[in-house]
Amino acid sequence: MTGPDYQRCEQCGTAIFPRRVLCPVCGERRLADATSAGRGIVYSTTAVHAREGTHNVALVDLDEGFRMMSAVAGLDPGAVRIGMVVQARADDEDRLVFHAA
Ligand SMILES: [Zn+2]
Repeated sequence: MTGPDYQRCEQCGTAIFPRRVLCPVCGERRLADATSAGRGIVYSTTAVHAREGTHNVALVDLDEGFRMMSAVAGLDPGAVRIGMVVQARADDEDRLVFHAA
């Protein structure tokens, strides 16, 4: 199982997501490409009520040290909890979503 691609600063080690040209911490240009293992913890969660139904939007802190906006699928959108351990997976349309781990 693999998660999102990100960058790692070769000078200070900061994890960078989304992609950048310079490290936002130290200004270094040498940024190494890396792929997250996809394991993270829910930082915040919202149930979005739309005409098509209710879906989840969540900010997830990946173990590698960056935060991304995504969704937690596979359970009721309102049942997602802050602090929940989640694992990234590709859905049927090849989009990355998280599931309770
Ligand atoms: Zn840096």
